[in-house]
Amino acid sequence: MKIVISEDQIRDGVGRLAHEITEYYADRPLTIIAVLTGSIVLLADLIRQLNMPLRVGVVQASSYRGASTTRGPLVLNSDLMPDITGRDVLLIDDIYDTGHTLVETIALLDGMRPASIRSAVLLRKRGRQQVAYEPDYVAFEIPNEFIVGYGLDYQDAYRDLPYVASLEPGDLGGDPP
Ligand code: 5GP
Ligand code: MG
Repeated sequence: MKIVISEDQIRDGVGRLAHEITEYYADRPLTIIAVLTGSIVLLADLIRQLNMPLRVGVVQASSYRGASTTRGPLVLNSDLMPDITGRDVLLIDDIYDTGHTLVETIALLDGMRPASIRSAVLLRKRGRQQVAYEPDYVAFEIPNEFIVGYGLDYQDAYRDLPYVASLEPGDLGGDPP
């Protein structure tokens, strides 16, 4: 495993996101919707750096990767979502890869008639996007490697690492710890 973004770098990156989000929304009340499960660490760090009145909710997106690092069909579950009618919504996710997760989640939220929807991600993979949408806030651009840590998993392991690391070919395909 190789560290791609250190704990210090992440702290700075989340601080920059918080700053940009605050500049845009100022004191307007905001509803943050986090895409489970990968964005829980970003959610916890980011909301503590925002000062506007906040509501927080979650939506679950799973693409059934299992032992694979390529995505399967996306399944969204909005049972745990608060009412976002008429609210300014900021959707947050761990990583923007092909873009399908954010685009499909935004379509789902749009149907709930929010006042606005913007999006923020910690990471954006270079050269992977398959959709004509870009997140409004991106903390880091990374090369196309499979990464774990800071919420991101490989077969449900490694989410607790305080940094972002890439798995090397020998780490993939075997059993996680
Ligand atoms: P997209 O729909 O943009 O292709 O993928 C977004 C989702 O795929 C993210 O929410 C994340 O769960 C997962 N994903 C994409 N790339 C990686 C990666 O390198 N590592 C891990 N652990 N998950 C990833
Ligand atoms: Mg995810």
